[in-house]
Amino acid sequence: YQAKRRTGGPRWQCWDRSLTGEAELSLEHELRGAIGEGQLRLLYLPIVALPSREVTGVEALVRWEHPRRGLLEPELFVPLAERAGLIEELGRWVLEQACAQAKAWQRRVPSLQLNVNISPRQLDNQGFTGQVLEILERAGFFAGHLVLEVPESAVAGEPDLRQLEALSTAGIRIALDDFGTGHSSLRYLTRLPVDALKLDSCFVAELDGTSKGSAVAQAVLRLGQMLHLDTVAEGVEDEGQARELTLLGCEKAQGRYFSGPVPAGDLERQLPAGTVAG
Ligand code: C2E
Ligand code: MG
Ligand code: MG
Ligand code: MG
Repeated sequence: YQAKRRTGGPRWQCWDRSLTGEAELSLEHELRGAIGEGQLRLLYLPIVALPSREVTGVEALVRWEHPRRGLLEPELFVPLAERAGLIEELGRWVLEQACAQAKAWQRRVPSLQLNVNISPRQLDNQGFTGQVLEILERAGFFAGHLVLEVPESAVAGEPDLRQLEALSTAGIRIALDDFGTGHSSLRYLTRLPVDALKLDSCFVAELDGTSKGSAVAQAVLRLGQMLHLDTVAEGVEDEGQARELTLLGCEKAQGRYFSGPVPAGDLERQLPAGTVAG
């Protein structure tokens, strides 16, 4: 396991060294049972509008509550799930849980958007869009309120765009996650059925009030604006960053300055007052 290089943020505490091959194999084996045994959890990271700071959406983030190792981070076990052929099952669990939860919150905030991360591997499955639509149907969740986050790196190279196109046609929104860190998808950007760009936290961390510090953030936000895409800043940790992003015309943001990822019960308190009684 290799930690992603990031500036700031809640990075690795206990798993800061590579897993040995053996540890990885046993964890992979345990992951097979973990999903069925109810060891996965979801945390929710609020996404707020700028400058109002009203919560307009939530990003679902998966955790594995391992019986002995404690709460494990997705960067550790999502790659394992991909290698072990378990990503479809994990992805389905995340989507089902998150849709049910967000549907309940929509009684208070009808326009609440739900962002769910998907692994590029899930897009290789030609049945993926059908599965997503089935889950939405069962949850009674409106397709237009679901945003699937695809890492920018997933659309580098010669991507098979069939699933993205089918999702988009069905009204589901697509966001390019960690934008600016993947191997350039700029060549594809105008051809991709994309609705939003998520500016990676490393560029937010560089914001320091100077033109050099804000150069990449400004360029990405400008690109998003010119393509009429929603722009969302990731990893906002202080007031200065929030202010600078607002000045640069960034529409939405997430990060510890507003709130870190929290369990469903805690998120509820951050939702704006409901418009529907009861
Ligand atoms: P991401 O999609 O870019 O998610 C945002 C990450 O930023 C989350 O890390 C969140 O905890 C973290 N974060 C929150 N506030 C701050 C802040 O103020 N500063 C910084 N620097 N970071 C902040 P987390 O939860 O550890 O997730 C890591 C990655 O794992 C996610 O990155 C996403 O790519 C992946 N992931 C999470 N859940 C799922 C899932 O259900 N399926 C798949 N395929 N991947 C997932
Ligand atoms: Mg983390
Ligand atoms: Mg994401
Ligand atoms: Mg991201």
